Parts: sequence; C-alpha cells; structure tokens
Amino acid sequence: MNTNEFTQQMKKVYNRAGNLYQRAGESHVIEYPALLVDSLEELRTSLEELRVAEEELRQQNEELQSTRETVEAERQRYQELFEFAPDGYLVTDADGTIREANRAAADLLGIAHNYLMGKPLIIFISQEERRAFRTKLLRLREGGSEREWEVVVKPRRDNCFHAALTVASVRDRQDKVVSLRWIMRDITARKEAEEKIRTYHLQNLQLQEASRLKSQFLALMSHELRTPMNAIIGFSQLLLRQRNHHLPPSQANMVERILNSGKHLLKMIEEILDFSKLEAGRLDLDLAEFNVAALVMETVEELRCLAEQKQLELNIQCCLDNPCVVNDKARLRQVLINLISNAIKFTDSGSISLEAQELSDNRVAIAVKDTGIGIDQSDLQQIFQEFRQLNQSLTRDKGGTGLGLAISDRLVRMMQGKIKVESQLGEGSTFQVELPRQIPVELEVLS
Ligand code: ADP
Repeated sequence: MNTNEFTQQMKKVYNRAGNLYQRAGESHVIEYPALLVDSLEELRTSLEELRVAEEELRQQNEELQSTRETVEAERQRYQELFEFAPDGYLVTDADGTIREANRAAADLLGIAHNYLMGKPLIIFISQEERRAFRTKLLRLREGGSEREWEVVVKPRRDNCFHAALTVASVRDRQDKVVSLRWIMRDITARKEAEEKIRTYHLQNLQLQEASRLKSQFLALMSHELRTPMNAIIGFSQLLLRQRNHHLPPSQANMVERILNSGKHLLKMIEEILDFSKLEAGRLDLDLAEFNVAALVMETVEELRCLAEQKQLELNIQCCLDNPCVVNDKARLRQVLINLISNAIKFTDSGSISLEAQELSDNRVAIAVKDTGIGIDQSDLQQIFQEFRQLNQSLTRDKGGTGLGLAISDRLVRMMQGKIKVESQLGEGSTFQVELPRQIPVELEVLS
C-alpha cells in the first residue's frame, strides 16, 4: 500500500463518519437505537479497515527499511571496491579538475588523498606530454572516450612512470559532458617487458645474422682449404706410388703420414663444409633410383681395411626382397661411412655388423651394430648435437669433429627418414637408419 492508497482509505473512513453524523442530525429520537447499531457496525468496519491499512503500512515500512539497508550495503560495497581497487580511479570535472579519487590513485600520484581534490589532473602529467594531454582532454569534453591511452605520469615526489589511462565521459540530461571517469594503471612492468622483448628480438636478429655470416665464412674457408688439401693428398699418393723406385723407406714412411693426416684433415674440412651448407639451407638432395644392398656392400668393402687393421670382423646381412630405393645415394653413402667409421673407431675388439631389411612395403632400414665401448643412456640424445663428443677422456684421442652424427641426422631427416640409436655402456651400440623406399617428391621440394 502506498501513501495515496492509505490517504484514500482514510478518506473512506472519514466519509463514513460524516454520513453517520449527518444521519444522527436528521434522525428522530425513536430511530436512535437503530442508528446506534448501524453506527457501531460502521465504526467496527472502519476500525477493521484502519487496522488492516495500518498493518500493511507497517509491513511496507519494514520492507522499505530492509531495502534501504540493502541499498546502503551495496553502496558501501561499491565504495570499498572503489577505495581498494588496485587501479587508480578518478572522477574529474569536464575540464579535468579532480573531484574524487581512490587510494590507488592517490598512491600513484604520490600525494595525500585530501590534497588531491580540486587539483587539475594535468599537473601530474610529464611536461613533454602536457600539450597532447590538453588536446585529448578537449576531445573528451566533446564526449569522446579513450582506452589504454599511454602517458608518462609524474607523481608529486617519485620518478615518472608509464601509465595507461581509460576515460569515459558522463553526460547530464541535456547531453552535456559534466564529468570524466578515469582509470589509471601503472604499466611500467609491461613496458619493461616489451622493451626486453624488443631487445631480445634485436639480439636474436643480430645472432641470426652472425650465424649466417659464420656459416658463409665456414663454407668459404672450407672450400678454400679443400683445394690445397687435394694437392697434398694427390702428390703424396703419387710419391708413394713411386716409392719402390726412388724413395728410401724412412721418407716413404713420412709421405705415408702426410697422406693419412691429409685425408683426415680433408674429411674434417668436408664435414665442416657440409654442416655449414646444411645450416645455411644450401644443401640439395640429388634423387635417383639405386640398389641399396649394393650400396651397403660397396661401402663396407671401402672400409674393410680399416676394420682389419683393428682385427675386427665386418659382417653384412641383407634381407631385402626389393633392394630398389629412390633417394640420394651419395648422401646415404656418406651417412653409412660415418656410422661404420664410428663403429670401427669406438670398438677395440669383436665385430661390426650391417643389416639391411624391409620394415614395410615402403620403408627400409639399415642397422650398424658394434661391440664397442657403448654410450651411456643419458648421453644418447646429445650425440646428435653438433660438436658433441662424449666421455671426453675416452673419445678425444680418437679424433673427429663431433659433427659426423649431427650431419648424418640432418641428412637422413632431409631424406625423409630417421636415425635411431640403442646402446649399452661397455657392450656396444646399434645405429639404425630408416628411409622411405621412395622419397615423396613434393616433400623433398619443401625441405
Ligand atoms: P666424431 O667426429 O667425434 O666421431 P660424431 O658426431 O660422429 O663425431 O660422434 C659424436 C660422439 O658420439 C663421438 O665423439 C662419440 O663420443 C659418440 N659415438 C658415436 N658413435 C659411437 C659408437 N659407435 N660407439 C660409441 N660412441 C659413439
């Protein structure tokens, strides 16, 4: 029941009383008892109606009180949210004079809350940015808004910091902008992170460029070094061929050493050249069909004398119904030479076995097994990383660049295959190369 309804109710009671009074005035004495009865009945009804109205009014009062309390609690909640919000909240006039501010805003601006009231916000903006700030403020007064507007804030006492401002204008009924609501967030940490990312990006670009130059330099140097090495190897081979006729044994021995060292050096130079080409993405595959069983046998024969020098058995087992493969023969030969040379290098007694087999209709595998020093489980993944030589004391004296497996791994991946290794320290290792029988042409182009 609202106030109007209650007034209506009162009027009704008043009218009834008026009617009764009028009837009393107009009645004869003889009619009084009946009048009295009617009056009492009217009075009882009116009293009852009044009581109901009063009860409704009381209930409404209670509801009103409870609503008032809820509204007050909500107001208090919003006030607290405003007060303790982590970002600075400010309300200014349309001309930017501060009228309200929460604690965070006072903290950010480095001034006590009560001194903040009535101050123009612009005095907390760094000198260099005030002009731009004024221009934006004029636009905001026209009714615009801003999101994440980055400014440099100069607090009263502290050093400048980067802040992001979000501003909305508040209009009155005549659609005139009367105030502005501001959110101010300290974005120093974000700015620093952005700056770091920019620096890292720049460093990354510089590193990439340095790496490219390094690869270019290596490719150039290796090429330049290979030419004289070929002359050294060629001429020492010529000298050795004539040794029976002209060379005394001591000199023949020296020439043999020159030849061996020359070959070793040439191998290392070639590895560096290959690696730098792979790094620079300048190594292309030369695809053709070839007999993989024949390739395995040729390669093994090439290295047999090395194995014999160490009295190692060298076995081949070819279980291929169809030995035809379409891939890069020279690169697969290079990978096999590297794996077999390593097997010989790291095996002092026992045997080296090569097994070629069909994994499926379209995949073949060649495994190189040795009974050598083996590789620790924890080192198995590292051996494919460039310049990585394990257990330095054991392997350093064996020479090498630490590039052979890195190159083999990359070459095999270029050939759409993969190299797997299994090993037991002290018992030997098995390196297995898996290849597609036919390299998909479009994949080769992509790689
Ligand atoms: P390196 O030119 O030093 O032989 P590789 O990349 O071919 O370089 O080999 C890297 C390292 O992996 C070797 O130095 C050696 O420690 C280990 N390794 C490779 N093959 C074998 C193997 N068959 N048995 C034991 N260790 C091996």
